[in-house]
Amino acid sequence: MKHPRLLIHGHKVEENARCIAETAGEAGIKVTGVTKAVCGSTHIARAMLRGGVQGLADSRLENLQKLRRELGEEISLMLLRLPMISQAHEVVAIADMSLNSEMKVIRALHQAAKNQGKTHKVVLMIDLGDLREGVMPEEATEIALAVEALEGVELHGLGTNLTCYGGIIPTRENLGQLVSLAKDLESKVSRKLEMVSGGNSSSLHLIRPGEIPEGINNLRVGETILIGNDTGLNEPFPGTRSDTFILEAELIEIKEKPSVPYGPVGRDAFGRVPKKPKDRGRHLRGILAVGEQDINPEGLKPVQEVEILGASSDHLLVDLSKLETEPQIGDRLAFTLDYGSLLRSATSPYVEKVIL
Ligand SMILES: *Cc1c(COP(=O)(O)O)cnc(C)c1O
Repeated sequence: MKHPRLLIHGHKVEENARCIAETAGEAGIKVTGVTKAVCGSTHIARAMLRGGVQGLADSRLENLQKLRRELGEEISLMLLRLPMISQAHEVVAIADMSLNSEMKVIRALHQAAKNQGKTHKVVLMIDLGDLREGVMPEEATEIALAVEALEGVELHGLGTNLTCYGGIIPTRENLGQLVSLAKDLESKVSRKLEMVSGGNSSSLHLIRPGEIPEGINNLRVGETILIGNDTGLNEPFPGTRSDTFILEAELIEIKEKPSVPYGPVGRDAFGRVPKKPKDRGRHLRGILAVGEQDINPEGLKPVQEVEILGASSDHLLVDLSKLETEPQIGDRLAFTLDYGSLLRSATSPYVEKVIL
């Protein structure tokens, strides 16, 4: 059996998806399931769909292509990352819709769609302060009207993305601004916009207190479905679980050693000057055969009573002194993962993915 391995509990992801889809549904919001942290896994995508998400989204065209191939033509696929103009043809061929902010790219999508005898749905992204993608609010109407005038693309709606670069949290105010832009636009184009997409997992916390503005009808949710984390409040989202993915790694060294490195101090494996660890005297230390290539050590939470001391590319160091039963070489320790570690382990070719 290959190690390290990532145990994937599809039915738990499904339960999380159901909780989120139902919560959002009560506020009239449809959920698009985001698969980018798990390489567009079709297994996870299916679990999300069983749980009630209305479509799927990913930031990588390769992942969407796999989902299209394996899940068929009926399923709605959204490209999350702004399209590369060099890939306009593929974007139209693979995805039903994409998030956009550049007129030049939208024109290329329009042209590609006309060539393919299709219409491609465009969601115009508005920057509401996080300063990642999106047009500034004051330019939104003019650009949206220019999109509306192109026949190869359909102005499907407006969207925003928060809590990604600037750490800006969705509020009644900033999402309210999105809704009022959408309303203004609807009166100018004399029709309802299909989609007003109010962000990602970090917007979910507004729903239960009734703080999400009426008019938001879509959220694009990855992290809260995958690992039950409310990224707006940075706490577990009630009704979801975080033991959906478990990383297992094998002990390759167990020794009693001092807890503070000795000798002249230079740099660690990544050129960083190491912080001196606290002196806990001699203690039982273990090395697990997993490292920074596969996980982020700060993002792992041990299932057993061990403490993570640090990691290099291929080694994870742990304090084993609190374990109740004496650890043996070849034993495996288990960890739950945060988003960064899930992303890294899902994308690491060294981590065996085991679907349960
Ligand atoms: C990653 C991403 C999402 C999903 O984010 P989560 O925090 O995983 O819910 C939604 N929208 C865009 C544009 C993204 O890039």
